[in-house]
Amino acid sequence: MRYGIFSDVHSNLEALEAVIKAYARASIDKYLCVGDIVGYGANPGECIAKVSLLQSATVAGNHDWASVDLFSLDYFNPRAAKAVIWTKGKLNKQEADFLKSLELTFKNDDLTLVHGTLDDPALFNYLTGIQFASPTFELLNSALCFVGHTHVPGVFIQDKARRIHYFSGLTLELKKNNKYIVNVGSVGQPRDGNPAASYCIYDTDKKTVCIKRIDYDFKLAGKKIIAAGLPGLLAERLAVGR
Ligand code: ZN
Repeated sequence: MRYGIFSDVHSNLEALEAVIKAYARASIDKYLCVGDIVGYGANPGECIAKVSLLQSATVAGNHDWASVDLFSLDYFNPRAAKAVIWTKGKLNKQEADFLKSLELTFKNDDLTLVHGTLDDPALFNYLTGIQFASPTFELLNSALCFVGHTHVPGVFIQDKARRIHYFSGLTLELKKNNKYIVNVGSVGQPRDGNPAASYCIYDTDKKTVCIKRIDYDFKLAGKKIIAAGLPGLLAERLAVGR
């Protein structure tokens, strides 16, 4: 089984199309989306349509829920809030209903998904370091949990002795008795200094988790952000991956 797992598309159609094209060459059996399909970018409806076509299991991100009034605007900085309000005005009923239908967590026999952390997933806390990882490991009933939200790809590993390590490499070989929280990075607004779209492949036979990057036309995505009247910084940051 090969899972294609991606997160934080953020209404960036150019980045999403590049990732879908790359996945098409990778024999994916099942897609999983870790939230924030919308917010920041200029193509919310188009991105919802593309993700729906993948028939992915999808969990809610803070931008998804805020855009349909299921999460408070108080959480967001002024630029992000502006983008949430803009997005809300663009969604048709079907798109809004899709976002409203998203749940906070997903679990199957192989893995768990949550946008932020498993402890209080509705608070959308940021898992930015190993000191924040233990509550999610404690609540994790599978060997693997996939997250997004920080837009920085990387893996928290809990070994048999319950020590937690951080792994920032691109290919992870899974070991028995370890548990993993994998941040798959962001398709539409990477923040690790690399502007290329980030996506992940989990191969259950090979027991590997790979983070991949693909270039896309961030200039076009940025132009559309400016043309839509969204904050200019949301366009500028795409070029630098911050
Ligand atoms: Zn996000």
